[in-house]
Amino acid sequence: MDIISVMDDSLSNKIAAGEVVERPASIVKELVENSIDAGSTSIEIALEEAGLTSIRVTDNGKGMSRHDAVLAFERHATSKISNEHDLFRIRTLGFRGEALASIASVSKVSLFTSDGETEGTEVQIDGGLLLKQSNAAFRKGTDMTVSQLFYNTPARLKYMKTIQTELGHTIDLVNRLALSHPQIAFKLSHHSQTVLHTSGSGDRRRVLTDIYGMAVARKMVPFSGGNADFKVDGYVTLPEMTRASKNYMTLIVNGRWVKSYPANQAVIDGLHTYLPIGRYPIAVINVETDPFLTDVNVHPSKQHIRMSKEGELFDLIKSSVRDAVKRSIIVPDAVKREPFKKMPSEQVTIWSDFRPAPTWKDREVEQEKTAVDQKESPIEQEESILETNLFEKKPLQAVYEPVKQEPGQADQPEQVMEVQEIVNDQEVPVPEINTTTETKEKRFPPLVPVGQVHGTYIVAQNEDGFYMIDQHAAQERIKYEFFRDKLSKVEEDERQMLLMPLIFHYSGDEMVKIEENLEALNEVGVFLEEFGPSSYTVKEYPAWFPAGEASTLIEELIEQVLSNRKTDIGKLREETAIMMSCKRSIKANHHLSIADMERLLNDLSIAENPYTCPHGRPVLIHFSTYEIEKMFKRVM
Ligand code: ADP
Ligand code: MG
Repeated sequence: MDIISVMDDSLSNKIAAGEVVERPASIVKELVENSIDAGSTSIEIALEEAGLTSIRVTDNGKGMSRHDAVLAFERHATSKISNEHDLFRIRTLGFRGEALASIASVSKVSLFTSDGETEGTEVQIDGGLLLKQSNAAFRKGTDMTVSQLFYNTPARLKYMKTIQTELGHTIDLVNRLALSHPQIAFKLSHHSQTVLHTSGSGDRRRVLTDIYGMAVARKMVPFSGGNADFKVDGYVTLPEMTRASKNYMTLIVNGRWVKSYPANQAVIDGLHTYLPIGRYPIAVINVETDPFLTDVNVHPSKQHIRMSKEGELFDLIKSSVRDAVKRSIIVPDAVKREPFKKMPSEQVTIWSDFRPAPTWKDREVEQEKTAVDQKESPIEQEESILETNLFEKKPLQAVYEPVKQEPGQADQPEQVMEVQEIVNDQEVPVPEINTTTETKEKRFPPLVPVGQVHGTYIVAQNEDGFYMIDQHAAQERIKYEFFRDKLSKVEEDERQMLLMPLIFHYSGDEMVKIEENLEALNEVGVFLEEFGPSSYTVKEYPAWFPAGEASTLIEELIEQVLSNRKTDIGKLREETAIMMSCKRSIKANHHLSIADMERLLNDLSIAENPYTCPHGRPVLIHFSTYEIEKMFKRVM
């Protein structure tokens, strides 16, 4: 029995739509790419309900004749290629001739267009069926409205995420298209509100400013390079302006935005040693090459391409980025940040030869020496100033107390003194957080500190044996519990007003996501106020926020919200407490005085769970007297 038949157009278009028309952003992509291919210099995109209700794209490109205006909706109808030879030399964004057919099969389309030679044309199509085709007065260009998306494919409609999510995707897409075509003026609006507006000046840096704001664009440096096959240019942020996600890198190959993991990696490698761990740059990488070297016909959405000589291209990107960043950064000398020599690894500090932790005076003298070198490295200073610790119990006066001049020492200006103290991150006294030591129940019996091993572990004893305590893990645990308590009642907290409000810059799609999560952010003490089209200000935060780090912390919290699809307040609180606890916890190779150790052990003893750090690693290990005696064969 014969059972095979060829599908009708309507069915095959809907099937093709499954690949090309995933969500409103994919329609915007196809329509705008058509406008770009038509040679437009101005493209306006207007959305209703993030495009689910309607997407309207208006351009001033070459338009279509009446004949073409109808044919354009046929499957495999294209003006862009006509033979196989063309397929390997594609210079346009479209070429498959299926986008309009697919889009029209799952929505209602209305088109006004004119090629400027004859009167314009109006076409209306409903779910793939031609309803109207008539003359209509229209200037040269095209105006296409796609409405009621997926009205006849309810399963796909159900799959759509929230308006906010869909809008975010579209804004992100238009950002990238605008970056790919700085010579075109783009305007994107949602419910008549402008979300992005670029000038079409041809200057990519201006587009970066339009998207990310001046503060980010100013921190971007240009790079360029070339070889026989590729010409590369673009912009990358300096290491002080980074993001927690790799999503901010845009690769453009011959005017097409494409996704490429290795190209992103090449940028990251180019910045390599300058990038803080887990942070990534914002970058735009523009590549020009002979279309013959690329194959764009890999996937219907044309977001991935194959390229010959890829390895060479990635090397070129990497070296161009590296050279540009190197030129722009005043490389800090490898400043010795360890005023105290590391303990030889086999040495264990015990009572008898315990070297007392240096006094403030000692530290200041040591630091004075390093401060002179550090004065030369503005980046180092800026970074370190961010690291100042609010929790320091030591009064700040002590920090800034002028040091008595040692004979023979050169005068140091006051200013240097201030910076140096902050710069040295090895020298923060153990923060005292728990002040209610006396009232809380102790979870383990008092321990007497004996000394420190490798500047990392505290050795302490009591009649049950001895204990090794990981000082970093211990402090993380103490701080974690402190912040967790604080975070559970942010609303009642005293706020600290800032003299200089903090400013944060985000792109349109990010702002949409942030708006959605303002309440969750409030719950963790982040109070954002909109400030212009691409920025927020923070004018106050809970008084217990780590002052010197508030800015980075707030940024990281926003990143958390941006990178999570759904924000669960409990989880955000938990992650915030962990994040805060990690900051400035005493590190390995940090010498503590016996008093510091006592304080730390005391705080730990009243922690709710003193045995593991918030990441689950052990805080202390017990060696019982019995075990020790067994090891030495004193008992059998
Ligand atoms: P493709 O872009 O792959 O050719 P499409 O289905 O997207 O296929 O479009 C079909 C044809 O319709 C295009 O080749 C082009 O000739 C014409 N077209 C579509 N949109 C526009 C536009 N905005 N301006 C001028 N012509 C257009
Ligand atoms: Mg197209």
